Amino acid sequence: MRIDILTLFDEMCERVMSESIIGRARAKGAIEINCHQIRDYTVDRQKRVDDAPFGGGLGMVMQVQPIIDCYDEVCNQIGKKPYLVYMSPQGKKLDQKKVVELSQHQNLAILCGHYEGVDERVIDMIVDEEISIGDFVLTGGELPALMLADAVARMCDGVLRSPECFTEESHYNGLLEYPQYSRPADFRGHTVPEILLSGHHGNIEKWRREQSLRRTYIKRPDMLETADLSAEDKKMLKKIKEELD
Ligand code: SAM
Repeated sequence: MRIDILTLFDEMCERVMSESIIGRARAKGAIEINCHQIRDYTVDRQKRVDDAPFGGGLGMVMQVQPIIDCYDEVCNQIGKKPYLVYMSPQGKKLDQKKVVELSQHQNLAILCGHYEGVDERVIDMIVDEEISIGDFVLTGGELPALMLADAVARMCDGVLRSPECFTEESHYNGLLEYPQYSRPADFRGHTVPEILLSGHHGNIEKWRREQSLRRTYIKRPDMLETADLSAEDKKMLKKIKEELD
C-alpha cells in the first residue's frame, strides 16, 4: 500500500512516520508513505498558500491552486488517482471499521487542512471523503492525518508481526480487548490472574473472552448492541450481567 500525505508540515509528518513500528515497516518496504509539501506547488512568488476568504470573515483559507497541483503530482507519480481523504471536523467520525475499509485501497492520499480549512472547490474537485477524528477542532489536519495513516498502515501485510496482532484488539471484532499482563507476576503484592500462569491455552482463551465481554459491558455497553456474539458469548454475558447488575 502507498499513502501520500499532502500537508504544509511535511517534516513533522515525515518525522512521526519514521518512528517505531511504522518507521521500520517503511524501511523494510512493507508500506510506502510519502509526505508532500503543498507550498512547493504554489505559483505565488512569495510562496503564499493561503488568502483571505471571499465575503470577509476571520482567518485565512488554503488556496485551491497549490493543493490541486500537489495532488496532480501525486497522481502522476502513482499513474492513477488515489482515494483522497480530507481530514476535517465536518467529516464522518473515524472508527476501526472505516480504518479497515481504507486499508483496502492500494493508494490512499490524505489532505491536511490548516487555518480556516481549504477552499471548498478542493473538496468538490478531488476529495473522495471527509473524515473527522472527533467533535472538536484542532489547528491543523496533521495530527488527524498521522492518526489515520498509523491506524491504516498497521492493517497492511508485513507491518505487524501477524494479523492476530490487530484482529484480537479492541474494536476490531466489536469488543474491547481483555486485560494484558507481563513480568513480574507479583508487583508489590499486585498479582497476575492465576489462570494466565497455568499454561492451559483452552482455559486462557475462555477467560480472555469472558474478560473481553465483561470489559465491554462495563466500559462500552453500546458496543454490545452490534457485536457479533456466539451462543456461548451470550451465555457468558448473561452471567456477567447477573453478577454485576
Ligand atoms: N473552519 C473549519 C470548520 O469550522 O469546520 C475548521 C478548520 S480547522 C481550524 C483547520 C484544519 O484542521 C481543518 O481543515 C482540518 O484539516 C483539521 N482539523 C481540525 N479539527 C479536526 C478534526 N476534528 N478532525 C479532522 N481534522 C481536523
